[in-house]
Amino acid sequence: MATILSPWKSGLLGAYYYATLPGRWWSNEQAARAGNAPVMVIYYHRVADHTPNCWTISNTQFRREIDWLDANFDLVSLDEAQRRVREGNTRATVSITFDDGYAENCDQALPLLVSRRIPCTYFVTSHHVLTGQSFPHDVAHGAPLRPNTIRQLSSLAASGIDIGAHTRTHPDLGKITDETRLYDEIAGGRDDLEQALGIEIRHFAFPYGLHNNLNAAAFRIAANAGFAGVCSAYGGYNFPGDDGFHLQRIHADPEIVRLKNWLTVDPRKVRHTERFLYDSGDENTSREGAAIVGLARRA
Ligand SMILES: [Zn+2]
Repeated sequence: MATILSPWKSGLLGAYYYATLPGRWWSNEQAARAGNAPVMVIYYHRVADHTPNCWTISNTQFRREIDWLDANFDLVSLDEAQRRVREGNTRATVSITFDDGYAENCDQALPLLVSRRIPCTYFVTSHHVLTGQSFPHDVAHGAPLRPNTIRQLSSLAASGIDIGAHTRTHPDLGKITDETRLYDEIAGGRDDLEQALGIEIRHFAFPYGLHNNLNAAAFRIAANAGFAGVCSAYGGYNFPGDDGFHLQRIHADPEIVRLKNWLTVDPRKVRHTERFLYDSGDENTSREGAAIVGLARRA
């Protein structure tokens, strides 16, 4: 969950961003020419004009961000993002995702993406969309927000929105050691959605998604269960040659300067991002029978 920057911090970040922008343009151009343009995956939670919190952005702000993204990046699906990580990338690329499944996203945000034919993967927690129960973290904040319904998700899928899995009950997978339970949450959440929607679910996003919330066994279980890829959420770039199975994601903040700073490639963030390392175990057991590539540890 992101915190809102104080005005002076926001001002400092703005000054840093604009001062370093010419240098970034130059180095991004060099990287693109060499086929090393970044593949960035961003995530939202909720776009709504009421009951704001740290994981809500207004419809006006969302539209501003989408306008800026559309003008400056290739906006692609997660499958295409993975292909570019594995095969090279000549233009800065962004893939848009959402986590959790909040009802209000269907008011304006998702119709906006659909109308502009902008790809989006929408990760939902199966128990909440099947039962209509609010998330415990929203209840704890005194605002039990409405999750999406299966009917809404079915309509989104029919409109071209890619539905992704986000566990059954949104637990912190970093705290779970029982592999049966991990499998139940990871593959079970996917199976629930596939059954309810009659579609194929290809990608998985870890709840919370910070380093502490990840789990090497969970990566292996997701690969063996047939997922094409998994997403974390601790903030990080994907460059060609990186692990194409694990996509590091960036939080799309209400403050557009922070998003612009991330997506124009802040060299400080490149230096400080620590990629979560794991080992796939058996690489020949994916649902498609294909070898899972890119799981090797990076130096
Ligand atoms: Zn979540």
